[in-house]
Amino acid sequence: MAIILDGKSLALAVEEELKVEVERIKVKLGFAPALATILVGDDMASVTYVNMKAKACARVGLDSKIVKLLSTTTTEELIKEINKLNNDNSVCGILLQHPVPRGIDERACFDAIDVDKDVDGVNSQTFGKMSMGEESYYSATPYGIMRLLKHYNIDLVGKHAVVVGRSAILGKPIAMMLLGADCTVTICHSKTNNLEAILRTADIVVGAVGRAKFIKSEWLKPGVVVVDAGYNEGNVGDVDLDNIDSIASAYTPVPGGVGPMTINSLILQTVNAASKLIQK
Ligand code: NAP
Repeated sequence: MAIILDGKSLALAVEEELKVEVERIKVKLGFAPALATILVGDDMASVTYVNMKAKACARVGLDSKIVKLLSTTTTEELIKEINKLNNDNSVCGILLQHPVPRGIDERACFDAIDVDKDVDGVNSQTFGKMSMGEESYYSATPYGIMRLLKHYNIDLVGKHAVVVGRSAILGKPIAMMLLGADCTVTICHSKTNNLEAILRTADIVVGAVGRAKFIKSEWLKPGVVVVDAGYNEGNVGDVDLDNIDSIASAYTPVPGGVGPMTINSLILQTVNAASKLIQK
């Protein structure tokens, strides 16, 4: 029987610890620090994610501030809003909900976020520091994956990890984190040749493709650890998990695996940023 890497239970347990820490911070500061979330446009999935993040803040006692902007907002206007939050002492973390409407330079906006408030780990400088093994915040989904693997004592040293997907928020940072944890890492993408053959050599597979059940269980070798970061219509991930129990040694379910750990990482890093306010 494969081990189920249960992100939901771990996230709940961590939230209990964070509640205590937030209470301590509030007493010292005299106010509840806030996570500020910027939502540009009215994409329904983004609205749902932003509301879920605000609820998670409330559960641990953090304040949250949602800045809603029209889809016609320009890059310059958005950067102006980010700068306001960079200079607001009641805000300890800033999250710009991805994706922003076409026409906005998302990278320029991510890079405008103060690195000390980049609790979603999207700034290029944050990525650079993480890649060099320096202290930094981390991209939320990959950090959630790494914490989940650590919690279940999954052995990473010397293992061949294959990451399918190379996005800036998921594929690239998880590849760097696995490399930092002494895996041998292969990154695959839409132009990769012989994906199936590469996957057959993987000890650890990370699905970060954005295509429902794209990675087939028969492409995987017995004993593989499967991390399914995908979340697609119909509540299914990027890996076909139907027979996974008989092949993998451990896997993340969808839902209940990587998803809860993503929001949990964001909240954890926001609390860490708030803790730094009382040290100033
Ligand atoms: P993305 O930006 O669309 O990137 C998808 C990646 O998959 C790209 O690098 C693309 O390659 C690669 N790809 C597409 N077709 C492929 C193919 N046939 N073979 C191999 N690689 C292929 O997506 P994302 O933002 O990283 O998200 C990926 C998945 O994770 C989605 O299902 C998303 O919903 C999910 N996600 C979940 C969470 C969570 O909290 N659970 C958070 C973030 C994302 P190219 O670069 O060559 O185009």
